[in-house]
Amino acid sequence: MSKHIVILGGGMGGIATAYDLRKLDKSLKITVVSGRPYFGFTPAYPHLALGWRKFDDITMPLAPLLSKHGIDFINENGESIDPDANKVKTTGGKEISYDYLVIATGPKLVFGAEGQEQHSTSVCTAEHAMELNRKLEEFYKDPGHVVVGAIPGVSCFGPAYEFAFMLHHELKKRGIRHKVPITYITSEPYVGHMGLGGVGPSRRLMEDTMSERSIKYIANVKITKVEPDKVIYEDLEGKTYEVPCKLSMIMPRFMGPDVVASAGDKVANPANKMVIVNRCFQNPTYKNIFGIGVVTAIPPVEQTPIPTGAPKTGMMIEQMALAVAHNIVNDIRNSTERYAPELSAICVADMGGDAMGFFASPVLPPRSVVKYKKAVWMHWFKSAFEKYFMWKVKTGDVAPFFEEGMLKLMFSVHPIHLCKDCAGSPGSPC
Ligand SMILES: Cc1cc2nc3c(=O)[nH]c(=O)nc-3n(C[C@H](O)[C@H](O)[C@H](O)COP(=O)(O)OP(=O)(O)OC[C@H]3O[C@@H](n4cnc5c(N)ncnc54)[C@H](O)[C@@H]3O)c2cc1C
Repeated sequence: MSKHIVILGGGMGGIATAYDLRKLDKSLKITVVSGRPYFGFTPAYPHLALGWRKFDDITMPLAPLLSKHGIDFINENGESIDPDANKVKTTGGKEISYDYLVIATGPKLVFGAEGQEQHSTSVCTAEHAMELNRKLEEFYKDPGHVVVGAIPGVSCFGPAYEFAFMLHHELKKRGIRHKVPITYITSEPYVGHMGLGGVGPSRRLMEDTMSERSIKYIANVKITKVEPDKVIYEDLEGKTYEVPCKLSMIMPRFMGPDVVASAGDKVANPANKMVIVNRCFQNPTYKNIFGIGVVTAIPPVEQTPIPTGAPKTGMMIEQMALAVAHNIVNDIRNSTERYAPELSAICVADMGGDAMGFFASPVLPPRSVVKYKKAVWMHWFKSAFEKYFMWKVKTGDVAPFFEEGMLKLMFSVHPIHLCKDCAGSPGSPC
């Protein structure tokens, strides 16, 4: 009888795993369980917030898409996991048995600063981005000070940088930039750290770019409170400061959602409730459970005075999915061969007129390849990549081989390295 693989989450990681599995074995029964009825291209959510994209441009309904590829879809969230019984319970009360479970739920957003959830809007979900778009339309009529930033423990800094730069571009276009002081406040020890310990000259590049655009930056501080008219932060000595604001976008911390915690502390990391995985993205205790994407517990790249986490970017997620799909199929076929992806990251921060891109391989230092570029064509590259990714999701192929080809052409690098040793920390070099 064909094995049943249940995937929690219909985002970047869930879809990539479902498609990779389908390509490797046509006979598998694959079920995607996701409360959101659509796939959303998260990297374009800052664009959605600025009104540069419409919801329909960057989302796709999951039900017709998955059925076309012979993948079942249950439009409910996973509520609890019983890893001893190999069962998932959904929010609608369904009980689903699995042979293999892939957890790809993305994060639970934790708005850790007091008042952050009420007074600051994130760009982390399509719904938040659209709410921010409504707030911005009001703001443009009577503009004032803007604060963009990240609270302690944030692992995803890219969207904060993008939002600050893109907002600058939009305000210039509207002829009101001079009425809007922008301040970037972050838990990173310096701007350009990005939870990655910096990538090549990212510190200098970010500092220069912020200065060129008159964006004031304050790093190595803790945002403690967000009010409608000010953001309050604390320095390392505990001294507090206030920055006035009329609008704020402060990145929340990412933690594992409750469904992960329900599986117990052998699956959920005690610190952040993310999925405990080895280098092959397999849970070391329950070997038929795998984690993919933002929900996986990857240790911070380095210790920072104020905690920061390691980002999990699209390319890393596609590599995780590819390795996990191979690992599941090999297990079913009684092959002992397992794959661990040496994670490499490509991050492109759109700035409206141009963009800044970084490539780091492996993502965990010491790195053998670091590349960076700031150019007008990078902005068009990012837009083209969005269209290409949506096309990949539509056609049922999310494997990163084309990206591998592009990176080879652009930078002479090969980002995909799969090793055959699961021991060690996820993402560690081959
Ligand atoms: C605003 C933003 C911009 C980003 N920009 C970039 C970028 O430019 N480049 C880059 O490489 N990376 C970027 N990233 C990082 C990363 O690529 C994305 O976060 C990516 O979407 C993560 O994929 P994922 O599958 O882990 O989670 P998601 O894409 O968030 O998907 C998770 C899915 O699981 C569903 N779900 C949640 N809870 C449950 C549950 N209990 N049961 C079942 N389903 C559930 C969610 O509704 C969602 O559909 C960005 C991240 C953010 C937040």
